[in-house]
Parts: sequence; structure tokens; C-alpha cells
Amino acid sequence: MSKTKGFIFDYAKCVGCGACVVACFNENGAKPPIAWRNISTYNRQKVPLLGYVHLSLACNHCAEAPCMKACPSLAYSFHPTTGAVIHNPDACLGCRYCTWACPFGAPQYSKEEGIVEKCHFCYHRLEQGQFPACANNCPTGALGFGKIEEKAQPEAFGLSRRAIYPRISILNSEVINHTPEVDPSASGIEGGFTSKGNLQNAQQHNGIKEEWPLALFTFISSFLSGYIISFTVGNNFKFPVWLFAALAFSALLLSTLHLGKPFRSYLSIKNLKQSWLSREILLFGLFASTSFVAILVDVKWVYTISSVLSIMFLLSIEMVYSITKRRYITPIHSANTVLLALVFAAFFSQYWNVLIAILALKTILFIVNNGLKASKPTLINTIVGFTKIVFGFLLPFAMLSYSHSPSIIIIFISLIFSELIDRIIYYNDFEPERNFYNS
Ligand code: SF4
Ligand code: SF4
Ligand code: SF4
Repeated sequence: MSKTKGFIFDYAKCVGCGACVVACFNENGAKPPIAWRNISTYNRQKVPLLGYVHLSLACNHCAEAPCMKACPSLAYSFHPTTGAVIHNPDACLGCRYCTWACPFGAPQYSKEEGIVEKCHFCYHRLEQGQFPACANNCPTGALGFGKIEEKAQPEAFGLSRRAIYPRISILNSEVINHTPEVDPSASGIEGGFTSKGNLQNAQQHNGIKEEWPLALFTFISSFLSGYIISFTVGNNFKFPVWLFAALAFSALLLSTLHLGKPFRSYLSIKNLKQSWLSREILLFGLFASTSFVAILVDVKWVYTISSVLSIMFLLSIEMVYSITKRRYITPIHSANTVLLALVFAAFFSQYWNVLIAILALKTILFIVNNGLKASKPTLINTIVGFTKIVFGFLLPFAMLSYSHSPSIIIIFISLIFSELIDRIIYYNDFEPERNFYNS
């Protein structure tokens, strides 16, 4: 097995003192609450008799760095002499896609700066033959630096199993198995505690509160895709070209609202070779412009081209989100953007049986993934889920099956309403994969 240089962390020696974090602040000037190195603590609540285990982590400068592959603007590169994964702040859009891609929670988003930042391996020290500041200042010898075996993933409890060749070697990870077990209900800790999954410090994902522009962008663009696809089979509801252009433009605008640096969005298609986000943005542009032409010239084969582009665009959206961790048990979920587009394609072409079939499929996927899998269903989740099923299936089904003159407007509004609920749940559900103490 070949050798490389990287961090060496020993679970048995770390006391969670934080000297490594402070050394990093002093050396590199990161400003709290952003910290390039973080300590995750098992038993953060200090439950008596449970024992303590700490894990100090920063960027592990992976040889197959997923952050680098994900970044649409090529803001990451390898340092030529040390192999450190370096982030270029001037090329960063603040899209945060790298924070989803990194399984170690290393890139940290700064709201003030509108970009991410992360550890650069103290490459300036490495070039002078010194250790990174954190490893140099650990008082117990828990965090070191040196030659390590190159492995696809560290065989250690609590770290990602993805084959990304992180430059870290973990020693004595089995100590976690020797911590005493205690009954959570007897702990006296308010609300109980989770002995595993105590991720401290690393930035948390705020679901729909943080991602609402993306939720609306994907909703509007799936809706427009369905509208265009309906022309290939026979559209029955044409709306004016200015409305299509206005919706497409607002979708574009919403997608930039998500960026910390919206004026750098022109950099977002630089990494077409590797980044699904770059591909998604390019495909959206191609889909929107060919659709606009298709509506103006009203020729079927142009609609067909833009429909194919729309499906490619929607699949690229799904690929963007495929790197996140979810609790879904089926390969596709009810909020899948292709299914969403097909709902509106069936609606606009008045293929009612097809519409009912897609809504039934989406409802089954919704119940399987959100109902059956929910470990602790709350009252609000139950009400929201029930509302989604009523408007997303029962009402359209009842109107189309039993009413002599079903109200198209009511069906349309209930579809919009239920699909928006689905998207909100979807965005609330996803978490970047940061699985310390969760394996
Ligand atoms: S300085 Fe060493 S002992 Fe202290 S938290 Fe960091 S790795 Fe653990
Ligand atoms: S640890 Fe995260 S940020 Fe660092 S190189 Fe690996 S994936 Fe990228
Ligand atoms: S552009 Fe996006 S993916 Fe690239 S470094 Fe900045 S936040 Fe991360």
C-alpha cells in the first residue's frame, strides 16, 4: 500500500481540550463562529458514568476530494507541492454545494463573507518542514502529522465510508465500543439524550428556512418542464409567452438568491466535466431558451427538443441532491422533479387517467417514505402529511372520477398546493452526510 502524509488522530489520547482548535485560530485567523477545526464529542451532555470520547477533525485533504468535484466554479485545487486541497475565495459563489459534498463538515459557510472557508493544511508550514499548527500544539499527542498508509476510507468508527482517500489515519477507534452504556431515561438530562450522533460545532443544515429559493426554483422549473412536455402529446391550456418568460426568469432569479455571491453566478458553469450543479445550470439555460423559441414558432419538433432538454435538466437536479443523506427507503421519492413535471404534463394535456396514475404513485412513495419510516410522527407532521394526500390525490381523484363537470381550476390549485407541501418536506428532510458517531 502506498504512503502519503496526513493527520494521525488517536481516539485514546484526545481529551477534548480544544488546543488544536485554538492553535488553528491563532495561525490562520479564522473568525468565530467559523472554525476550520472542530471537535465532536460523544457524550457532550456529560452524562455521569457514560464516559467521554472526542474526535478532532478539519479538512482531510482527500485525494479524491468530493468538494472539488462538486464545486461548479472550480474554486478548489490541489496545492502543487503539499497536495493540500486549497479553496480559492475569489472563485467561490457561496453556493454551499461543497458543504453538502464533504462528509467531514470541513467547508464552513460564512454568512458575513458570503463564501465558504476551510483548513488549508497549513501548507505554508508544511513547505518549511513544520507540522500543521493544530498537530504541533496538541498537548497529549492525540493529533499528529506524518506518513500514513493511503486508504480509500479510514477504517474507524464515526467516519465516512465513502472511497475518497482522506489523508487521515485513525488510531484506537475501538475505545468508543468500551464506553459504558447507561439508560438514557435514567440520565436526568432534559428530553433524554442520544449517546451517538452528538455532533458539536459543525454547521447544521436549516432545511427549508435556508433552501426556500432552491425549493421554489425546482418547483417552478419542473412546472414549466411539464408545460413544455405537454405540447409533445397535445397541450390544452396555452398561456401567453410573456408568462412563460416571466416564470423562467423568476426561477433563474430565485436560484441566484441562494448564492452568497450572486454576481459571480456567471462562474457557475466552469466545472461541466465533474459538477452536477454546473450541468444543471447549463441545462436549465438550454431548456428555457429552446422552450421560448418553441412557444414563439409553435413547431412540434422544437417542443420535442426542449422536452428532452427538460428531462435532462430535471435528472441533473436529482443528481445534485443525490449526494445528500436521507432517510428515504425507495430509490425515487415523491418529490422527484421528473414526476412533478409529469403531473403537470398530464394536467396540461388533460390525460386524466395518466394524471391519476402518477398521483397514485407519488402518494404511495410519499406514504412509504414519510409515513411508514417516520420514527416519531408528530401531530403537525401527521396533519401536513394528511393534507398533502387529500390535495395531492384524494380530491383530484374524486373530482375526476365522480364529478360530471370537474373544476379544472380546483384541481390545478390542489396540485400546486400539494406539490409545494411535498417540496417543503423534501427540503426539510435532507442532511449533508456528516456521520460522526452515527455509524
Ligand atoms: S489538542 Fe489534542 S487533545 Fe486537545 S482536543 Fe485537539 S486533538 Fe484532542
Ligand atoms: S475533507 Fe472535505 S473539504 Fe477536505 S478535501 Fe475532503 S471532501 Fe474536501
Ligand atoms: S462555489 Fe460553491 S461549491 Fe465551490 S467552494 Fe464556493 S460554496 Fe463551495
